[in-house]
Amino acid sequence: MTADGPPPGAFRAAARRWLATVERPAGLYDYGPTPQPEDVPAGREWQAILASAGYACLHWPARWGGRDATVAEQAAFAEESARAGVPRQLNIVGPDLVGPVLMSFGSEGQNARLLPRIHSGADLWCQLFSEPDAGSDLAAVRTRARRTDRGWVVDGQKVWTSGGVGADYGLLLARTGGPGHGGLSVFIVPMGAPGITVRPLRQMDGESKFNEVFLDGVELAADAVIGEVGGGWRVATATLGRERLSLGANAVAMFRSLDELVEAADRRGRLDAQLRTAVADQWVRVWLLRTTWERAIAEGAEPGDASFSVLKLLTSETQRAIGDLTLEALGADALASEEDEPLVRRMLVSHAQTILGGTSEIQRNILAERILGLPREPVVSAAAAPS
Ligand SMILES: Cc1cc2nc3c(=O)[nH]c(=O)nc-3n(C[C@H](O)[C@H](O)[C@H](O)COP(=O)(O)OP(=O)(O)OC[C@H]3O[C@@H](n4cnc5c(N)ncnc54)[C@H](O)[C@@H]3O)c2cc1C
Repeated sequence: MTADGPPPGAFRAAARRWLATVERPAGLYDYGPTPQPEDVPAGREWQAILASAGYACLHWPARWGGRDATVAEQAAFAEESARAGVPRQLNIVGPDLVGPVLMSFGSEGQNARLLPRIHSGADLWCQLFSEPDAGSDLAAVRTRARRTDRGWVVDGQKVWTSGGVGADYGLLLARTGGPGHGGLSVFIVPMGAPGITVRPLRQMDGESKFNEVFLDGVELAADAVIGEVGGGWRVATATLGRERLSLGANAVAMFRSLDELVEAADRRGRLDAQLRTAVADQWVRVWLLRTTWERAIAEGAEPGDASFSVLKLLTSETQRAIGDLTLEALGADALASEEDEPLVRRMLVSHAQTILGGTSEIQRNILAERILGLPREPVVSAAAAPS
């Protein structure tokens, strides 16, 4: 029940052929944007293979080992990788967030030292932005970096750090000045530095991709800042929105989930008329999303454009609806079925999609303000908020 994409262009066709024949590291599977700690060795090896074949960091300029790939080519590679059942790269943070940020704001020295190691998979990065009281309202970050004679000392706590275990570096958003956007700076943090504690959080799907990260008196060198001190908001916002490139890969996964849930429901005699209609509705949505996504790319939309917010919102809401349908298809077996484990896993993570990379409510705010021109939501000052 899959919908084939448009006829593959030369790039897509070459990538599909390569993915079908390349030798894969033992144990590699499509773990998504973030490896679990035990997936990291195979993920690093895979990144090195991608790098030597010219498929790593496609969007990077040739100077740093990329191909200057168009958004369409990046999206085609993401889709072909999902089809082939492999991750499109080691993880999302290094190649997609840190690389472009360093190229825009980093010094020559930082770039020469760090970019080749992201490209080859030698260094794994995590993103240290969210805090217990700063998620959607990222400008409320409280982790503080104080200047010293030798550099900086950082104290604070981060949470929801994907891939924190096994990461070599973190991209840290910390407060170096007063409240609000202007008091923030972005730092490069070696995750092995004394004073850093990474504590895994166990999720309901049994995985531990998230972590709490505690920073107690962590000393950083003076050149650990990316860009200007106090210019962290510009650096941080440049990272947001880039995850949306993987929408095509999401469509492949959603078609697969629909196929598998129909088969699982049929096996259990639960494929009644109501479920069939609901599946057909979601299949149409995925098909329309995929087509809209292709059109947005063909029209030159870039990550960060409002059209990507529309797609992020509708894609994640559809993923969640398919997760809910999976529950209907499996019934109580969703709790215990080993046979349908990959499907159950996708069901359990489906709700995360409406939170990561900007929640659905935040996407709606963006659309209301930037596209519909509705009044901005009132800013509630911390001083006025109830304690
Ligand atoms: C799978 C996944 C991976 C993640 N990986 C990382 C990572 O590697 N590094 C990292 O730093 N963070 C990461 N995060 C954290 C993520 O960025 C935050 O969860 C997200 O920004 C929401 O913040 P919060 O969880 O603090 O929720 P809150 O901001 O506290 O929001 C709670 C609820 O209130 C709603 N809400 C908040 N503000 C408004 C508003 N102004 N208007 C309307 N509704 C509002 C939200 O939509 C939400 O429903 C990850 C999250 C997920 C799910």
